[in-house]
Amino acid sequence: MTAHEPPDTHETRGRTPVLERHLEPQTGAAFEVLAGQVVRVTSPTGEQVSDLTAFGLRDTREWLSSGRTIDYANTIALTEGHTLFSNRSNPMFTITADTVGTHDFLLAPCSPEMFQRLYGLEGEHPSCFMNLARALAPFGIRPDQVPTAFNIFMSVNVLPSGELRIDPPPCRAGDYLELRAEIDLVVGVTACSAELTNNGAFKPIDVTILAQ
Ligand SMILES: [Zn+2]
Repeated sequence: MTAHEPPDTHETRGRTPVLERHLEPQTGAAFEVLAGQVVRVTSPTGEQVSDLTAFGLRDTREWLSSGRTIDYANTIALTEGHTLFSNRSNPMFTITADTVGTHDFLLAPCSPEMFQRLYGLEGEHPSCFMNLARALAPFGIRPDQVPTAFNIFMSVNVLPSGELRIDPPPCRAGDYLELRAEIDLVVGVTACSAELTNNGAFKPIDVTILAQ
């Protein structure tokens, strides 16, 4: 037996999966999630970050807010039991399960401009921002509306100087996070495209929506 026994990813605790999506490396998707449904984000192979954002299904001017969430939680270490709030201070999600306990809500989704500015990369590079913008477009959401994402499994450490250090995502194969939707939502999710964030190799992400 290994030191880390991966949880059974098919275990649904009696709840019915209403949608199952396998995100290939460096891709994204968006879908409706109704109030009471649970979004489970799984790292099937480990060491992979997933950016998640959300908008009100009926009014996409309401969106998942890093600032409101960190303010009300009074911590950047968000995990099981915490609520994620919208820009209008309404609960959007409650974290109902978390096998990792390391996530980031400070950094914006990786973008073509970020790859250029931080790494001098010119030309095409897949990014969470572009993947989210593309996936959310059919819901009438414009690229400029994509906010700071909740970066599931991302390890961002604040050093005493205030400097940030990004470490490899500590999730192992089968680790997952579950978010219960508190209102009807459009949810965008990615398998992150940034080298540094994912320890230099891109892996898939599995998303399951579970009925109430
Ligand atoms: Zn990314």
